[in-house]
Amino acid sequence: MTSMILTLNAGSSSLKFAMFGGGDDQPVANGQVDRIGSDATIRLRGADGLPLSVTANNISTHAAALRVVLEALNGAFPRLQIGAVGHRVVHGGPDFAGDILIDATVLQKIAALSPFAPLHQPHNIAGIIAAGEAFPGTPQVACFDTAFHRQHPWVHDTFGLPRAYYDKGVRRYGFHGLSYDYIAGELARIAPRIHAGRVVVAHLGNGASICAMEGGRSITSTMGFSALDGLAMGTRPGQLDPGVMLYLMEQEGLGTAEISDLLYKQSGLLGLSGESNDMRVLEASTRPEAAEAIDYFVTRIVRETGALAASLGGIDALVFCGGIGENAAGIRDRVCARMGWMGIRLDRAANATHATVISAADAPTTVMVIPTNEELVIARATRRLCRMA
Ligand code: ADP
Repeated sequence: MTSMILTLNAGSSSLKFAMFGGGDDQPVANGQVDRIGSDATIRLRGADGLPLSVTANNISTHAAALRVVLEALNGAFPRLQIGAVGHRVVHGGPDFAGDILIDATVLQKIAALSPFAPLHQPHNIAGIIAAGEAFPGTPQVACFDTAFHRQHPWVHDTFGLPRAYYDKGVRRYGFHGLSYDYIAGELARIAPRIHAGRVVVAHLGNGASICAMEGGRSITSTMGFSALDGLAMGTRPGQLDPGVMLYLMEQEGLGTAEISDLLYKQSGLLGLSGESNDMRVLEASTRPEAAEAIDYFVTRIVRETGALAASLGGIDALVFCGGIGENAAGIRDRVCARMGWMGIRLDRAANATHATVISAADAPTTVMVIPTNEELVIARATRRLCRMA
């Protein structure tokens, strides 16, 4: 078997992975360990998408999760050789504007950025350390979710705070950069004129954000200092008046741990519906709270899309991606129905079948659905930096 690239995406209690061979864009295997630390489960699929059988027990850390993943991969692919490992790293701070080979100094710098993303960065670091132990001497690459946005004009990079905070790194970083990078690449490949123009890309998954691009480069995004800003998400509220935080602290006596839990885990679709963070569950629900939660989700997408289009001075195309953006035709329909004033009009049949172009042929603004692929962005960067092409 030729030397493989392993991509890792370590979340707080999950580890997503994919394995790519040679110069292929299709992974030979991918999967996910969920609920690390409690009742862990592992899913592993082969190139044909079919499940490969594995068992999981006693997965209490990311290192243990990686060991189980490797056992499973070794079982499915005899004589497996991992030639390089690529990692999704959530925060690259002000300085990491591209992918980088990880050495001790880089790892130290990534660790120093943990205060900017305390709920995510430590898990990414755990993944890097675990991979270093599993594959001593094997090159590892960091791909940052913030890097794609590092060229934002200053007005889109700053908050209206005293400048000293900007200098300390309190900036609008933007996230989902690997996804936007993939979409920009796909637009260049399948729709070069649109790629060269002004595009708003809505990444709508459990986490959700929107990015305004011009010529394939990010100009601004709805996510800012953290992955909390902008759209309502599965369990995060999106844009919030900072006065609410003062109220929660002063009047309700909430501490930072409680506020963090409220903002990252209890809000958004889950908090508004009181039912679920899963769009499929809400769409199937008959409860009015579920319908209101979806209404809020849609309303914020319309509002933010309008704001980003204004930042670009108009748009040539709107692109949907992410679990909801790619699969929820009803949500796309509701968003687009309220943006006729921006030249947006859907072809209902194309939208229902999740076609690549879902706008009406004579509509001034093109609307597209492009399935995103963050793993492939990591694999390509790893291949490039490790000269494995
Ligand atoms: P993550 O941010 O965790 O990667 P995903 O991009 O996988 O999330 O998106 C998960 C969301 O996509 C969930 O809310 C899920 O309900 C939604 N989703 C997936 N498939 C569908 C579908 N067919 N219809 C509506 N929503 C869907």
